[in-house]
Amino acid sequence: MHHRAGWFCQWARISITREFALSLPPLVEPAAELSADEVRRYSRHLIIPEIGMTAQKRLKNAKVLCVGAGGLGSPALLYLAAAGVGTLGVIDFDVVEESNLQRQIIHGQSDIGRPKAESARDRVAEVNPNVKVVTYVEHLDSDNVMEIFAQYDLIVDGTDNFATRYLVNDACVLLGKPYVWGSIYRFDGQASVFWAEYGPCYRCLYPEPPPPGMVPSCAEGGVLGVLCASIGSIQVNEAIKVITGVGEPLAGRLMIYDALEMSYRTVKVRKDPECPICGKNPTITELIDYEAFCGTVSADAQQAASGSTITAAELKAMLDADDDIFLVDVREPNEYEIVSIPGAVLIPKDQFLTGEALSRLPQDRRIVLHCKSGARSAEILAVVKDAGFADAVHVGGGVLAWVSQVDPTLPVY
Ligand code: ZN
Repeated sequence: MHHRAGWFCQWARISITREFALSLPPLVEPAAELSADEVRRYSRHLIIPEIGMTAQKRLKNAKVLCVGAGGLGSPALLYLAAAGVGTLGVIDFDVVEESNLQRQIIHGQSDIGRPKAESARDRVAEVNPNVKVVTYVEHLDSDNVMEIFAQYDLIVDGTDNFATRYLVNDACVLLGKPYVWGSIYRFDGQASVFWAEYGPCYRCLYPEPPPPGMVPSCAEGGVLGVLCASIGSIQVNEAIKVITGVGEPLAGRLMIYDALEMSYRTVKVRKDPECPICGKNPTITELIDYEAFCGTVSADAQQAASGSTITAAELKAMLDADDDIFLVDVREPNEYEIVSIPGAVLIPKDQFLTGEALSRLPQDRRIVLHCKSGARSAEILAVVKDAGFADAVHVGGGVLAWVSQVDPTLPVY
């Protein structure tokens, strides 16, 4: 495997053997007819022999739900709408922020502050007024997922967290529905089609979520904006194939994209006979508590942070009083460059994990750790306390809390 693929393959069950492609039957029955307007609009599809009238009518009859109207959901919704998918559901509880616009191209400057689902609906109406859009401005969770998914033929998963990914997978397996999955981080993307009836599910590929804090999110590690289009458009490509039965979808295969190298590779993913939800003897027969399953911070970090968390305002008071503290920023150098707390010493998280940072900590001063939002510093607090710095603390909410509570003139990211 390429070295930069290392962040996921540790948890993925893939076999680097010659892959094979699989044709599947069409998912959706064709609509009765296309209007003269629709024939004009979709003419560049209709003259492709493999698509033609029948496949276009299947798209018209299709109901596709996009989970998330963010980085992947933005290009996915635009192309699904343009392609003539008749009904599009959009579920997203979030509102558009300025930092979204670098990649979430379905939203614009004037949408800042609006719910993403509503902004996406308006943009889809402009791209193709024939599409019926159903919006859900809510969190997808175990209480609403089955009822919402049941109304759609296919799900496009554009979520950015492990709890929702396992939730989407399990709901789709339990309902017998296919879904198109995509994932992005910095320059790396992955995509696959999970349809337990015909191949593996997400749990066959990733039996366990990574330990909390081990795989950084895009908010923590960043993502190249255009990578969203590369992976989101592959998801739409696969959605069209599954709906129409044209071509060989990525079921049973994982597509790995490296934007720096500019390489696409596919590897085979086998159905795991022992898979807890789609295997021979499933132990998961209903939805579980996905937040608890995936965790947000590890148990060690939770324990370390309990009673040892200070607020940004308390840190400010300590600094003003000239308290004898050693303030450590555990983020990465490029984050430190964007915004930092005056007086903080940069020692990135990895140097604590390898142990080399511990010798740089003074024994006679109180250690105060901070990161961007408090998750990484809680993890490092556990390491530091373990090394004997019993009175060490970390700043809840990190530098973001410092900006909002102490110095709102500083930038946030
Ligand atoms: Zn499975």
